[in-house]
Amino acid sequence: MMISKKTFLSLFLLLGLITACTKDEVLEKDPQPEEQPKEEDESSYHLQAVGQSAAELLTQEEFEALQVNLVYVEGYAPTAQTLENLEAFLQERLHKPQGIHISKTAISSPGLAPYSIADIQQVEKDFRTGFNKDKTLAVFVFVTDGSYSENENVLGVAYRNTSLALFGSKMQQYSGGVGQPSQSLLETTVMNHEFGHIMGLVNVGTPPQTDHQDTAHGKHCDVDGCLMYWTAETGDVVSNLVGLSKAPSLDPQCIADLQAKGGK
Ligand SMILES: [Zn+2]
Ligand SMILES: [Zn+2]
Repeated sequence: MMISKKTFLSLFLLLGLITACTKDEVLEKDPQPEEQPKEEDESSYHLQAVGQSAAELLTQEEFEALQVNLVYVEGYAPTAQTLENLEAFLQERLHKPQGIHISKTAISSPGLAPYSIADIQQVEKDFRTGFNKDKTLAVFVFVTDGSYSENENVLGVAYRNTSLALFGSKMQQYSGGVGQPSQSLLETTVMNHEFGHIMGLVNVGTPPQTDHQDTAHGKHCDVDGCLMYWTAETGDVVSNLVGLSKAPSLDPQCIADLQAKGGK
């Protein structure tokens, strides 16, 4: 099915807004994490709020390597290009001299679609195998087989300090067709955007060095064309996304924020 540019714009822009809302929800829910520390000291590290691991992601002081464990429901695998793009994006910003490694694991459908944040957290509890070990920081990415139960137009969420999800069925619906961005371009844009949030952008753990937060739209950047951009009234984002072969980049102000927090 073809969708209009306007529809696509709404979808793209919504992901940012809902990410911010979702963070609020998680912050409200998190005072009593569902999982208590178990056998190891690090076992509750991954239950913190979005942005709380910005420094650990950006610097090499505590962690010199990054392991991204991507779990996807069969039939919703991200493209190899998306993962290459993600690795390049992370290499560009994070001090991880021991490397950035991305692994992919397929699972059968958990049968939970449409997904609430609690559903996604349940999947993480059941299927996350990567946790911090020695000098390696672990991030969990889940690609769902359904939409977000709170808003079916949402494409991605960052819901914990090292956890994010992409709504795989929406990726397929809104990419690859005539007049739509390619699957890799859409996935890369959403994936990198959500990683931007767990790096602390904008003003969610990483203090802004200049006044560029789009406070009307939550934790986003007010620079047109930035990866962390959100505004409802312009078609520029859509034109850029559909017309470009590469996902939007971080603008200099977002990069300056990350550098001030210890990133590249
Ligand atoms: Zn966002
Ligand atoms: Zn920006």
